[in-house]
Amino acid sequence: MEIPNTADVVIVGGGVMGASAAYHLAKCGMKNIVLLEKEDYFGTGATGRCAGGVRYQFSTEINVRLSLESLPMLERFRDEIGQDVNYRQCGYLLVATNEQDATKFKHNVELQNRLGVQTQLLSGEDVRAHLPLMRFEDAIAGTFHHKDGLVDPNSVVAGYISAAQKLGAKALPRAEVTGLRVRHGQVQAVETGDAVIQTRAVLNTAGPWAGVIGEMAGVQIPIVPIRRQMFTTDPLKEIPEDFPFVIDFGQSLYFHREGEGLLVGMSNQNETPGFDQNVDEEFELVNFETAIERLPLLERASRASHWAGLYEVTPDAHPIFGGSHVSGFTICAGFSGHGFMHGPVAGKLMAEYIVDGRFSTLDVSMLDLARFEEGRLIKEYNVV
Ligand SMILES: Cc1cc2nc3c(=O)[nH]c(=O)nc-3n(C[C@H](O)[C@H](O)[C@H](O)COP(=O)(O)OP(=O)(O)OC[C@H]3O[C@@H](n4cnc5c(N)ncnc54)[C@H](O)[C@@H]3O)c2cc1C
Repeated sequence: MEIPNTADVVIVGGGVMGASAAYHLAKCGMKNIVLLEKEDYFGTGATGRCAGGVRYQFSTEINVRLSLESLPMLERFRDEIGQDVNYRQCGYLLVATNEQDATKFKHNVELQNRLGVQTQLLSGEDVRAHLPLMRFEDAIAGTFHHKDGLVDPNSVVAGYISAAQKLGAKALPRAEVTGLRVRHGQVQAVETGDAVIQTRAVLNTAGPWAGVIGEMAGVQIPIVPIRRQMFTTDPLKEIPEDFPFVIDFGQSLYFHREGEGLLVGMSNQNETPGFDQNVDEEFELVNFETAIERLPLLERASRASHWAGLYEVTPDAHPIFGGSHVSGFTICAGFSGHGFMHGPVAGKLMAEYIVDGRFSTLDVSMLDLARFEEGRLIKEYNVV
């Protein structure tokens, strides 16, 4: 498809945010939408490398509310978008092994219950009873919510892209944005290779690369790319079909069923920022050994695959929604490692913002870019 000379809006980045925004802008009746993705396929950035987890269990009201809007959109996805996304409600079971996390878990459950999310607070005994295959002698508390679970990220991106295209949006892979033209504080054009698209509206959905796109417009965006990695195993017949998404919170270690085997990941707290997406084999060994201590049957498992991707981390682990000091330059990025699940509502909110100038579905105006300069940070605790 040829790159057009003009657009009413150019979306930079074809992960879940860009795909969802393209669809929701088209659904709002916007014409001449162009989505540019640098890779050969959509959704091969953070979205395609993520664990596919979706949860209501957060520690801040705004994140719980984002889930309350977004997860039902994933439940309705097939009806609305015409694409099955394989939503499996296996539940998330978060385990606390120290007093600080246990106290925080209690507060989180109170908040979630107040907002209508029926998360259960578990004792250490309950955790052990739920997870007979695992060794959690040191568990002192846990939380479980049965509607948390797993969704297929590639299906969500593919569904939104094709639904957006049916409504007239142009989605172009192999189209890297190399520059933005700004004059008198207003976006004028987007450069991609030799082509120039005249436009007065750019939406930055470049995920871990959002800071780089910001620099092109002269906008400082505090999003840092941090590598995260995981591996999957061959089939493990002992793992029951209803095995939950288990998070050993203190070690940032997690397990969930993937096919007939498991997906196992662990966040390296000493990882330094950067765009390297190669697996750190040394840390994979640490991950494997730590996982075996929790789930001894993994000793007999063989690795089926492994990969790394980038978290898009902001100073308060919350996303950035809205405009900037450059007129026409908007941002929807920085979901800090839990954005896949919020992609549906995030795209809808940005469509509302671009078309109507305000967020109607949910007020996320406190998650603006200016909060970092003005010191209005809202810290999320449930980051894995
Ligand atoms: C290992 C891992 C596990 C995760 N697990 C979960 C999970 O279980 N649940 C969850 O909700 N979230 C999870 N996340 C986080 C989630 O993946 C992200 O928050 C979300 O996918 C971000 O979507 P995005 O569209 O902003 O970014 P991306 O999917 O990265 O999309 C940005 C796109 O912009 C493109 N791009 C960049 N620069 C340019 C340019 N110059 N021109 C054109 N295109 C450009 C990139 O190629 C990319 O495709 C995980 C992330 C990782 C890395």
